[in-house]
Amino acid sequence: MEIDILTLFPEMFEGPFNYSILKRAREKGLVNINLYNVRDWTADKHHKVDDYCFGGGAGMVMMVEPVVRCLEDLQSRTKYDDIIYMSPDGELLTQRIANQMSLQQNLLILCGHYKGIDERIRERFISREISIGDYVLSGGEMAAMVVTDAVVRLLPGVLNDETSALSDSFQDNLLSPPVYTRPAEFRGMKVPDVLLSGNDKEIVKWRHEQSLERTRKRRPGLLDDQAKSF
Ligand code: SAH
Repeated sequence: MEIDILTLFPEMFEGPFNYSILKRAREKGLVNINLYNVRDWTADKHHKVDDYCFGGGAGMVMMVEPVVRCLEDLQSRTKYDDIIYMSPDGELLTQRIANQMSLQQNLLILCGHYKGIDERIRERFISREISIGDYVLSGGEMAAMVVTDAVVRLLPGVLNDETSALSDSFQDNLLSPPVYTRPAEFRGMKVPDVLLSGNDKEIVKWRHEQSLERTRKRRPGLLDDQAKSF
């Protein structure tokens, strides 16, 4: 999979993409993440990328020209399955969307900054808009990192045990059951007996019951969504 990210701050991605699972996925060649600085496509000699908002009001807007020049240049080299704009008014990111995206080959993600991007870019170039939640961030960078992480960990071969992504929360609209590791007893707190029993059938049953109970208690709405999807 190829993920091209357009941003004014490529350096912001250095930390998150260079540790743990994302780092391993890149090293194994399971994903190529390319960062592009929109500023490199400005025709303006001061490399201006933002300007005042027409009609007044506080805050700067990312200009149409450098973003479109950048998009057109990248599009001439790659056919994207989706050109995504990170935006608080986009579709809310869910595990279902991450699953869908993990089946695609070439994705482009545009990160806005300041007041956002000139609406004409959205109208003409963007095929999908994604929000990571009902709150406003300073820029699309952290949102793009969240999307990238959620998608890349689903690619076959990224997690050591492929089933481990399948047993995470939200797959099947259920929350994950509790997990424990050694020691079996810590300061009098014991791991549930069933997990030490070696009885696989009972363990599967227990985990499913725990998942259901946890979902009922914490996110009952997920169970309605599950019913709807059948
Ligand atoms: N004025 C805009 C917010 C701009 S925030 C509005 O009220 O809708 C600046 C940038 O941060 C946006 O262009 C977007 O790329 C990113 N951003 C902010 N909140 C986000 C969220 N919840 N999900 C995804 N991207 C977000």
